[in-house]
Amino acid sequence: MQKPPNDTGGFPFQCFRQWQLQEHTYLCSMNTVRVRFAPSPTGGLHLGGVRTVLYNYLFARQQGGQFILRIEDTDQTRYVDGAEQYIMDCLQWCGLVPDESPVHGGEYGPYRQSERKTLYRRYADQLVAAGQAYYAFDTPEALDQLRETHKAAGNSFFYNHEVRMGLNNSLRLLPEETQALLDAGTPYVIRIKVPANEFVSFTDMIRGDIAFDTNTTDDKVLLKADGMPTYHLAVVVDDYLMKITHAFRGEEWLPSAPIHLLLWKYLFGFDHMPQWAHLPLILKPDGNGKLSKRDGDRLGFPVYAMDWKDPKTGDLTKGFRELGFLPQAFINLLAALGWNDGSGQEIFTIDELIEKFNMDRVHVSGAKFDFEKAKWYNQEWIRKQPVAEWQSLVHQHLKEQGLVVPNDNYLTRVLELVKERCTLLTDFYTQAGFFFQAPQQWDMDAVRPKWNEDKKAFFTELVAIFATMTGWENAAIEEAFKTLATAKNIKPGELQLPMRVMLVGGKFGPAVFEIAAMIGRAATIARVENMLGAL
Ligand code: GLU
Repeated sequence: MQKPPNDTGGFPFQCFRQWQLQEHTYLCSMNTVRVRFAPSPTGGLHLGGVRTVLYNYLFARQQGGQFILRIEDTDQTRYVDGAEQYIMDCLQWCGLVPDESPVHGGEYGPYRQSERKTLYRRYADQLVAAGQAYYAFDTPEALDQLRETHKAAGNSFFYNHEVRMGLNNSLRLLPEETQALLDAGTPYVIRIKVPANEFVSFTDMIRGDIAFDTNTTDDKVLLKADGMPTYHLAVVVDDYLMKITHAFRGEEWLPSAPIHLLLWKYLFGFDHMPQWAHLPLILKPDGNGKLSKRDGDRLGFPVYAMDWKDPKTGDLTKGFRELGFLPQAFINLLAALGWNDGSGQEIFTIDELIEKFNMDRVHVSGAKFDFEKAKWYNQEWIRKQPVAEWQSLVHQHLKEQGLVVPNDNYLTRVLELVKERCTLLTDFYTQAGFFFQAPQQWDMDAVRPKWNEDKKAFFTELVAIFATMTGWENAAIEEAFKTLATAKNIKPGELQLPMRVMLVGGKFGPAVFEIAAMIGRAATIARVENMLGAL
């Protein structure tokens, strides 16, 4: 197979693409698919991040390949304690467990970029030696000054081909001047030398052909003064060394693509460059821009996968898990934010997703986030799955709310009774709490307007009948209730509401006699007497 010349600038795009395709056909037949999720541990995991994980995971599983988690922690100023563990926990919760990662190990480790620090230097040096990158000694203060001056003049400062020859770098200095600065230990960064007047291009798996004018790309820093690589250098080197075949990432990384393309060209002659797909943004509910954590706070829904507590400020940001989403539902709704299989099917198990997911059907335009729809998915999943699948999650939640569950069997029966009424796992506390403890308050407004002495007499007698009747089954309770109502000449319907409020506290819950049967004779009598006393 003929490789394209190193200079894609003048290379006809069509041929470049053809070569890429051939290369990848070759790659796919020879090598296993290897994809990666490469988060920076800077805070909570946005649902867009989890969707990126999901699409990577589905593709890897479908192709019989590997899914790698690489922690991109080269920016020490943004590093947040606990964020890496939190990412691991989120993946675990979602069931999207990597094949290789800092904790799972693998042949291509270390999987934390900070632990690979020494490895990047050689690539930066190689670029400098080839004249494709250069040392820049400009101090942060000097650069700030330049930004200020440009701002005052109404424009922005870019370190690029137009200005670099006037700045303090090895392109402008004589070799011996550069050497003297290096010998003196002067701090420097290494910048990529972006060529002027060229186009770099690639074919995105979702968006098709995309070309960038290098004149609009600035000379990004590749190696920082502390010797750490920046994201741009590290991502290219690691995708190469870890033999990544496909890189799926958020659309927000598209502006970085020209730098990465140049690095792929300079460092590796495009050899084994992964196929890229830039996933559409997840948009605010009104479609106006990217969904942010702040939108969630403002509109009252979670944006993070799980609760995230900022270790510096102590601020807690709510997550889908703690709000009562099932991981299966969360995965399902994320898959649908940007993809469908064209058949109208909405509920997918992970195995169905693995089978049906297809990059060709990922949308180019952003997907609006709709929290009501997200809850719908959860409700469907609560209905779809046997109670046993999620009982322990609800049990845990009820325990956290201070309720005591007498035994698993009882809980199963309760959950079967109320599951149709619950959208979130946390709804079970409000919908079923009365099965475990007497109501703390009653909806008196629902009862008082129609309350009278006859009804009071009815319930007083009912309690006596309840205490002595044989058996305590649903049907027997109902019969005793209705017989007494007929004897007293009151419509049973008018008595059922007060009875419900007595047992439950409000106008909700499953059939009232079923509730009485479940909570037992003693609790039923106590609850009726309790409210009678308060009325
Ligand atoms: N470290 C980048 C992030 O935080 C990775 C982007 C990429 O996948 O190239 O999302």
